[in-house]
Amino acid sequence: MNVPSKVKCFAWRICKRILLTKATLCHRHLISDLVCEACGLAAETTGHLLWDCNKAKEIWNGVSLNLEGLGNGCDDFTDILWKFIENETSSPMNLELFITIYWGIWLNRNEVRNGEPVKSGREIVRRALYLVDEFSAANLSTQNKTNTKEFKWSAPSRNKLKINVDGAIFKNAREAGVGVIIKD
Ligand SMILES: [Zn+2]
Repeated sequence: MNVPSKVKCFAWRICKRILLTKATLCHRHLISDLVCEACGLAAETTGHLLWDCNKAKEIWNGVSLNLEGLGNGCDDFTDILWKFIENETSSPMNLELFITIYWGIWLNRNEVRNGEPVKSGREIVRRALYLVDEFSAANLSTQNKTNTKEFKWSAPSRNKLKINVDGAIFKNAREAGVGVIIKD
């Protein structure tokens, strides 16, 4: 997957069932309260927090990914992943987004525990889209740089201006950015 290492590491932790949810901490006798803080209705297991919780459902219902037949939070995460990959409409980009949204839910859960505000489902999806696009664009520009001859910047001659410009398009987030430097 073309995603940051932190997202890959997070996915690996879920697959190995070692994500430190409240249920896991409780199982290790480190805390005694295992109730999900987002809904207060069930134990905070990985499956509940990232898939079955009302907060997670709000997010998954709002994304344009085909999630039909993926099962529920009680299923092993690797099974959910395989079903997603086998889905005929899935693509590597969709898988990257799927995993990054998972990571985004977990990130906001940790942010809230550190006193930061609860993000809406829409914001979590938007942040995931941005991260996937930004990482992809950054990798592309690195690849392009390695294939291109290095040119050294030189100052413009007298009474002239030199304009350097670069831009990027974040297709999924439907945003674009541009930077311009003008030097004499
Ligand atoms: Zn919950």
